[in-house]
Amino acid sequence: MKQSNPSLAIICLGTELTQGFTLNTNAKMFSAKVRELGFDVAYHLTLPDNASLWKNTFDMIMNAGVETVIVSGGLGPTADDKTRFLIAETLSRPLVYHAEWEARIQKQFSERSRPYSPENRVQAMFPEGAEVLENPVGSAPGFKIRQNGITFFMIPGVPSEAETLFELHIVPWLKAKRSVPLFTREIHLMNIPEAELESCLKKVSFPDSVSWSSLPEPDGIIFRIYSHESADILSSVMSEAHRVLVENSQAVIFSENKDDLIRRITDILQKRNETFGTAESCTGGLIASEVTRRAGVSGVFSGGIVAYHNRIKEHILHIPAKIIAENGAVSEAVVSAMAANARRVLGCDWVLATSGIAGPDGGSPEKPVGLVWMAVAGKQEIFTFFEKFSGNREQIRIKSVYKVLQQFFLQLTKQKSSCFFVQ
Ligand code: ATP
Ligand code: MG
Repeated sequence: MKQSNPSLAIICLGTELTQGFTLNTNAKMFSAKVRELGFDVAYHLTLPDNASLWKNTFDMIMNAGVETVIVSGGLGPTADDKTRFLIAETLSRPLVYHAEWEARIQKQFSERSRPYSPENRVQAMFPEGAEVLENPVGSAPGFKIRQNGITFFMIPGVPSEAETLFELHIVPWLKAKRSVPLFTREIHLMNIPEAELESCLKKVSFPDSVSWSSLPEPDGIIFRIYSHESADILSSVMSEAHRVLVENSQAVIFSENKDDLIRRITDILQKRNETFGTAESCTGGLIASEVTRRAGVSGVFSGGIVAYHNRIKEHILHIPAKIIAENGAVSEAVVSAMAANARRVLGCDWVLATSGIAGPDGGSPEKPVGLVWMAVAGKQEIFTFFEKFSGNREQIRIKSVYKVLQQFFLQLTKQKSSCFFVQ
């Protein structure tokens, strides 16, 4: 995407982030939100809690032409929380103790029946001239400070606190600063490799004011277009992209807003008053877990059976031992019986079933690691198909989850499948 307003930098501090213990989810959260507000991010930086690295970064930021810097992490009371000291030192401002803020922090502790220890006092110290930013969901307030035309926002690292302080203090400030929003439109696609999408998009005429990006997600690809100009221009570009994709590819557009595949599936089922469940072997409950991560699915998702051991396939799903012995657990016959029988056991309209070899061991020349049989059973018919997925165990499991969900969507909407189709 073109960078038309490189005015903002996002810095996340924490050794646990650079050492790979914690995923830097704050950077993604801030970026997504500032994009919606019409700002472009010039830099994303993730730094360990290290004074000299901070000083180098600070020098770079001061000369980078950014107007706003958001810093998260390291505002707590422990020895590794160095942000306030680093900022005070690099801005050459002494830390000033604010008795009224310590009183507020103490009150918060007593309201939550938590003992207040003197170490927390440091959270009431801010660089001279800073505006303190209240933190209603944690003990460390943030602060805002302006120097050399750059506004710095320091907020805690805990993701829920970072988000709350961002919404409360940074969003209103950014909104007031910029009146031209960034308009975006997106569609979610399946059944098309990224490279093919890219070549289809060469046939679309994008005006200079419109940029685009494609983002692979486990359930498909998100194709987004952006413009600072108007929402109308995006509508016409998206219609053209839509037409080009339909005419030149097998792509299936499953969402025209921010809804993901599972949300689309559950919405369709809700409208039809139908339910679904799962019978999972190699995915071990991962389909059920991905579905139930979304709130409000209890009306359409009945439940699932993790039939990992053959004993469970036989005794809970009532698959005759003979079928398993003759075909092997990873087979069309078994996955089909898993889906059909689970429909009866769970008493739901649809069942998704998986049985495969996720590896790293257990593969054979006929049934290699990555071979997964899947089934979607409905009232009338059972669709079975297989894929040979590449990747490690986790990748094979997650690819299976979304492949069978994609197939389920195609069955629900009666669209043609590109999967190997058996029954
Ligand atoms: P606290 O008062 O809890 O110490 P803090 O501002 O000092 O808050 P950190 O100590 O940096 O924050 O981090 C607190 C927790 O939040 C840690 O579990 C940390 O791994 C997590 N965290 C910090 N920064 C991020 C980030 N950018 N993305 C995701 N998690 C983060
Ligand atoms: Mg901390």
